[in-house]
Amino acid sequence: MGASVHGRAGRTDGAAGIDTAIDLSFEETTAHLRDLFAAGVPVIGLCAAGILIRAIAPLITDKHREPPVIAVAEDGSAVVPLLGGHRGANRMASHIAAALGVAPAVTTAGDLSLGVALDDPPPGWRLTNPQDAGTVSAALLAGESATLQNPPDFLAPLSAHPNITTTGTGDAVILAVASGETLTYQPTDLVLGVGCARHCPPGELAELVSNTLKKHELSPARVAAIASLDLKADEAAVQDLATALHLPARFFSAAELEAEAPRLATPSEVVFAEVGCHGVAEGAALATAGTDAQLIVPKQKSTNATVAVARAETPLSTLPGRPRGQVSLIGLGPGRGDWRTPEASRLIARADELVGYGFYIDLIGPLARGKPRADFPLGGEEDRCRYALEQAGTGKHVALICSGDAGIYAMGALVYELLDRGDLSDTARRVEVVTAPGITAMQAAAARIGAPLGHDFCAISLSDLLTPRKDIEKRILAAAQGDFVTAFYNPASQRRRALFVQAIDTFRQQRPDGTPVLIARSLGRPDETLTIRNIEEISVDEVDMMTVVIIGSSQSRRVGVGGRDRLFTPRGYAAKHRETAP
Ligand code: SAH
Repeated sequence: MGASVHGRAGRTDGAAGIDTAIDLSFEETTAHLRDLFAAGVPVIGLCAAGILIRAIAPLITDKHREPPVIAVAEDGSAVVPLLGGHRGANRMASHIAAALGVAPAVTTAGDLSLGVALDDPPPGWRLTNPQDAGTVSAALLAGESATLQNPPDFLAPLSAHPNITTTGTGDAVILAVASGETLTYQPTDLVLGVGCARHCPPGELAELVSNTLKKHELSPARVAAIASLDLKADEAAVQDLATALHLPARFFSAAELEAEAPRLATPSEVVFAEVGCHGVAEGAALATAGTDAQLIVPKQKSTNATVAVARAETPLSTLPGRPRGQVSLIGLGPGRGDWRTPEASRLIARADELVGYGFYIDLIGPLARGKPRADFPLGGEEDRCRYALEQAGTGKHVALICSGDAGIYAMGALVYELLDRGDLSDTARRVEVVTAPGITAMQAAAARIGAPLGHDFCAISLSDLLTPRKDIEKRILAAAQGDFVTAFYNPASQRRRALFVQAIDTFRQQRPDGTPVLIARSLGRPDETLTIRNIEEISVDEVDMMTVVIIGSSQSRRVGVGGRDRLFTPRGYAAKHRETAP
């Protein structure tokens, strides 16, 4: 199943017979379970159901997206699919229970008495009308009689049902209850090969595909995937088609498609001269559907698009070729696990490879363990981004890990700069780029100390490695004169100290003494410190590269709250209050 075994540190390591099987050990069960659940990782807990329930309860919101959770009694006497019954939990629980020689404690009514989840066919099959599964299931449970046409293996338990009569053969599998409702299952054995000219209108390809399927009386439910040449991976028409039909897309190099040349119905020298293979639509359909596949619809054309359909010998549950690669720009937040968004966790969990500064990847904790990772040194930013894009170009999902927000003094802009410059391989240029926003250092610092960013603010990086010092000085002066609350990122390193001293001087000339300044260090990490100073007391010795400094505006103030000093910058409600007070 490709599962990894996680064990609680101290309990499982060193225990006789267990230690060798542990892939990953964790310190804190609840936090670890939440991390996995938020990231969409299916969990089989060898523990009390209550432990799993208590850990994930606060996170449960959407049954269509959440992963299966299964509890297995420590002595193997019970297997309980707790969540995601119809997203794989019941099936997994049945496998586990069978291996343990017990009955799974399946609690979804339909599965129990029917022996099969009507709305959850296995890979290779699709229910064309899932919205009717509830009604049909209820009718069968109420004792209605039914007919089942041409049942495949996964519906075999229904054939044994006393009220269900199995009939004939045919392509489609139809379950019909006496009151008239039906469920239709189709094998996913068709592949749509598509090709198109650059900037083909998405509507044109969609219409060609829909007309072709109609004309040849092919059910869209039977389509397993769309396929094309890798040059088309970033074509809007191809992406929109995959999205609209809820289908995966697979891409092949010209050489791979050329290997299909002997099987093409309409090989074209013109296409060969242009892209290096004799047919894109037919070749891609055949390459995906397999060596025994038949081309059942040869190339059909519109002005800018082509489509062909191949039928596989058996339903397709796995797909050859490559998906379009993806780079996810992940902002982890400043460090604490619970300051990371569920979206970021999900993208990390799904990634084939993690790329980043090693220290940041370590911050991810358990979710990163066991994943291929490419650690780059601080300063290797361009190499890091280039590597991520090139790896994604091979069809992988690469997560580029940044601290805080990936778009703020981090890798986000550099990825786009490289794409803009274009000196990347052909496949790297066509990857998809997705960004998961993160909490940036200045927000974390603000949240810790009150509400210093309550009115207009700005951020300035004091690093002059990439920015001319003159530009930084100009911005410091403008921020000081504009009375902005100002966050300094990269305030000072061991070598770079003078600019910070100069910046504080500039601000002192524009702000009254007593203006509060926050020095926030290692936010969200065990050695976090927060220090409030008056602007005239600041020393460069208090800041380093782990520090973000927030200088108040002329309006920023301290307030004691619950015995602690807090900072805030009023928006002006007090003045409004005075105006409207009787
Ligand atoms: N992308 C990051 C910023 C990277 S620049 C973000 O959005 O937060 C690096 C600078 O960010 C550091 O020099 C420091 O000024 C600030 N910084 C990043 N993480 C921090 C943390 N945990 N505590 C304090 N400052 C931090």
